[in-house]
Amino acid sequence: METISPFVAIRRDLHKIPELGFQEFKTQQYLLNYIQSLPQERLDVRTWKTGIFVKVSGTAPRKTIGYRADIDGLPISEETGLPYRSEHAGQMHACGHDVHMSIALGVLTHFAHNPIRDDLLFIFQPAEEGPGGAKPMLESDIMREWKPDMIVALHIAPEYPVGTIATKEGLLFANTSELFIDLKGKGGHAAFPHLANDMVVAACALVTQLQSIVARNVDPLDSAVITIGKITSGTVQNVIAEHARLEGTIRTLSIDAMQAVKRRIEALVRGVEVAYECEAVIDYGAMYHEVYNNPALTTEFIQFAETHTDMNVIRCKEAMTGEDFGYMLAEIPGFMFWLGVDSPFGLHHAKLVPNEAAIDRAIAFLISYFSWKGNME
Ligand SMILES: [Zn+2]
Ligand SMILES: [Zn+2]
Repeated sequence: METISPFVAIRRDLHKIPELGFQEFKTQQYLLNYIQSLPQERLDVRTWKTGIFVKVSGTAPRKTIGYRADIDGLPISEETGLPYRSEHAGQMHACGHDVHMSIALGVLTHFAHNPIRDDLLFIFQPAEEGPGGAKPMLESDIMREWKPDMIVALHIAPEYPVGTIATKEGLLFANTSELFIDLKGKGGHAAFPHLANDMVVAACALVTQLQSIVARNVDPLDSAVITIGKITSGTVQNVIAEHARLEGTIRTLSIDAMQAVKRRIEALVRGVEVAYECEAVIDYGAMYHEVYNNPALTTEFIQFAETHTDMNVIRCKEAMTGEDFGYMLAEIPGFMFWLGVDSPFGLHHAKLVPNEAAIDRAIAFLISYFSWKGNME
């Protein structure tokens, strides 16, 4: 039998039961069962939808330090072939939120036994992958009452080795928005195009035009991505399609660029309506605020990690990934950092296999950081 640490075992348990946003019922119950097994003297546990808040009272608190872990999986069919692979068909922890939860439980376990001066608030947040749990959790009564003075989160990074963390001051993750465009024209017989308005042709034209926004409307020193990942249209080869639906995502470095990109999308869609005599509806779906790391806290964190821990610290570039933790950072000073887990397959890949050695390393690292920060004069 392979011997594994308790938090690796927990990660495997959680890996088997991935659940989508706001359906994390088994996950929430698993977390609650574990939290109830800890000494309760200093814990105050409250559920919020499928999420959980756990406050750990300090010995002489002056502030509250928040730590957030996201808990949802993705609608992806796992292809790792591992013995502890997902038991939920079509759902997978392909973004490492199982790792995030097990690390949070490891850190919580330590402080439930060994409190520091300041209060700690652990936030187990549902629905990071959509529709977004950070914003409503932030606006909840519990968060208003227990609002931390600073907040921290990590995300696994397949591209870095175990023992590495990466972050930067200021912008870490982009502004993101989903994009759905529905086009409605007039269907008809394939042989009578003059009596119909073909939405396959309109959709293809629109996809091509959308690419000009990044090339021609975004400041080259700023940055943006528009990806249409899915087009659905038509029913059969000899019928002109009446509907088309484009599904995609927008990513921008600045909030200004997001607004500019959306204005251009709206103008191009109006143009397609005129040119192809159709009706179009734009829906931006879920939007995520940028992740902006508080510069002073991040600099202090990097210096602590470099001088007091065995972690290798990389000052990384900003990324075009989206993260709803950005909403929390917009209201509470704090930061997010990448944790190296050394997987040959990336985030949201059906073969993502994080190296579990990162779990205990991260637990020890966060315990030392929070102990230092929460005992500081
Ligand atoms: Zn993800
Ligand atoms: Zn994630």
